[in-house]
Formats: sequence, structure tokens, C-alpha cells
Amino acid sequence: MASSLGRLGFSALLLALAAGCNQAIASEPAAKAKEQADKPAASVAPQDSGAHGGTGEAKYAVPFAWESSPDDPLAVARSFMGEVLRDNKSHAALGVKVFAEYRDVQKPRATVVTCSDSRVHTSAIDETPENDVFMIKNIGNQLENAQGSVEYGVEHLNTPVLFVIGHTGCGAVKAAMEGELSKLSKPVRSELEHLKLPELTEKDENAAWAEAVVANVRNQVAHAVEHFGGRVQQGKLTVVGAVYDFRNDLGQGAGKITIVDVNGNDEPERMKAFVTAISSPGPNQRSATRAKRRGEPSMEAGAAGPSGPSGPSAGEKAWSPNDLAKALADLEARQTKPKPKPKH
Ligand SMILES: [Zn+2]
Repeated sequence: MASSLGRLGFSALLLALAAGCNQAIASEPAAKAKEQADKPAASVAPQDSGAHGGTGEAKYAVPFAWESSPDDPLAVARSFMGEVLRDNKSHAALGVKVFAEYRDVQKPRATVVTCSDSRVHTSAIDETPENDVFMIKNIGNQLENAQGSVEYGVEHLNTPVLFVIGHTGCGAVKAAMEGELSKLSKPVRSELEHLKLPELTEKDENAAWAEAVVANVRNQVAHAVEHFGGRVQQGKLTVVGAVYDFRNDLGQGAGKITIVDVNGNDEPERMKAFVTAISSPGPNQRSATRAKRRGEPSMEAGAAGPSGPSGPSAGEKAWSPNDLAKALADLEARQTKPKPKPKH
């Protein structure tokens, strides 16, 4: 308690300092800006003389007096950071009860490797990813560039799923396709050089790009199955590869994810069997909408009652353990290694 109070006191002090300093710090560039109002904006703004590091001079903590237009990077930075605080306020309003669920320990069910692309986020796959998705992002959704993080998720956190998600329109895959890496800096090049693509069969540019995206996901799954083969064979880990398609390049609908590989299997009928098996609520259903978390009335018909998830709606086939067993047996039938004994 004492340390909590100490932290609170320290935070309050920081806030007070920040509030007090805001004006003082802001007034300095403001005064300079006013002083140099007749000079061109470029002479007022801090100079960036290096490719990455600039001059090494200290930058202002509150540099927004330098803003010259709504498109000015400083104006964009101010807007973004303002939205961060507003969005975080809304997030914090979830309340202590929600955070208490995972305050001391994380228990994610999936290690997810996806691309850093700003159009690809957990919102596409999970409305409430907290404590459920151990997320790793890098350019081209690669395992080799993040081996430590991937091992941490799979072997230390014991997530039963390793989920690799590529996406259509991936710039990293495009760069690998075109092979013009020399224009890129060494650190970027070194992250792309593991990205190996097979010879593409599609002639249309977009179709070839989508083909390359799928091929990369399958390569990553193959790498994972090789690396974590023991876990996969013991049924402790399921490696799934999918493509998130916000461009509808795969023709399944914009925004859809398509599963393209499971444990090294990529045949369409096997993907279909897998999707059938996972399409009804499983015994470990954990997802909840944000509205539910806030305690707001659910808009869903047949929402989960106190006894657990409700059954499927009319017309849907009810899930049974046999379906999953059958689908998994089907998936494993092509694997040469012995099937693990079922656990009870
Ligand atoms: Zn990408």
C-alpha cells in the first residue's frame, strides 16, 4: 500500500509538474516562433541534418508552437497523441474488475505473428484481445525475425495456438517479390532477407501478389511446424496460417480472413474441415464483446447465459466433440508421424 501511495504521489507530482511546465516549455518555442515570424518556416523548425539522427540537439518536450499547417508533422503528432489520451480514457473506463482478471498473470490462448502494417490489427480477429492474444508484429509476419518472442509465447506462456496472419497488399512481400532490396537500409534489408518466395504462377500483378502473400504464410507455418514439431505432434500446439484480406484480392469478401494452412496442411478440403470444426462454440469460449465487459445489455440474440454459451442458432449444426475429433483425425491422417494418444 505504501508503495502504491508512493507511486500515486509521484504520479501526481509529475502531473503537477507537467501542468506547470506546459506553459513554461511551450512559451519558449512560442517566443522564438514569434521572434522569427518573418522568416520562412524552415528556418524556424528544428533542422534535421542526418539521415536518421539529426543534429543530436535536445528536442522540445512540447514542440507544438512550431506547427505551421494542419498537415505539419507536429500538428499530426499533436492530434494523434491527443486521441491516444482520449481513447485511453475510454479504455480505462472498463474498470478495475476487467483489469483485475489479468492484473497479475497473463494467460493468452494464442501467440499471433502478423505484419506491422497499420491496416492489420487485432480488431480484425478479436474484439477483446487482452490476455488472450500474445501479439508479435514485424514486417512480413515472419517467425525468424522474432524467434525469441515466438518461443516465449509458445514455450513459456504455453499458448495452444500459434497463428500466423499475412495480409493482402503486404509491402514487405512485394519488396521480396521485386527483389529490389538494395534501396533499403541495412536493418530493413536484414529483416526482409528471410522472406523467400517460390516461383509464382499467377500472371496478373495483384493475383501474383496475393499468391506470394499466401506462400509466405505457408513458409512461416512450415518453419513453425519444423521448430515446434514435438508440441504439434503431442497436440499441445496448433499452428494456423491465414491471410487477412481487406482488399478482397482473394475474392472471399473484403475484411475476411482465410485460413490457408493448418500444421503444414494446405489442401482446400482440409481447410474446410478445420473451419467446420471451429465454427461452433467450443468448450473454452472466452470471447466477450466490449459492451458485455462494460456491463451493457448485449445486442446479441441468444447471448451466453450463466451456464455458458448458448447453442447455435436455427439452421446451424450443433458442435459435438466428435466433429472436432473427426476433423483433427482427418487433418492428421496425412501426417506421417504417429497420432498422439487422446487425453482424458
Ligand atoms: Zn505487410
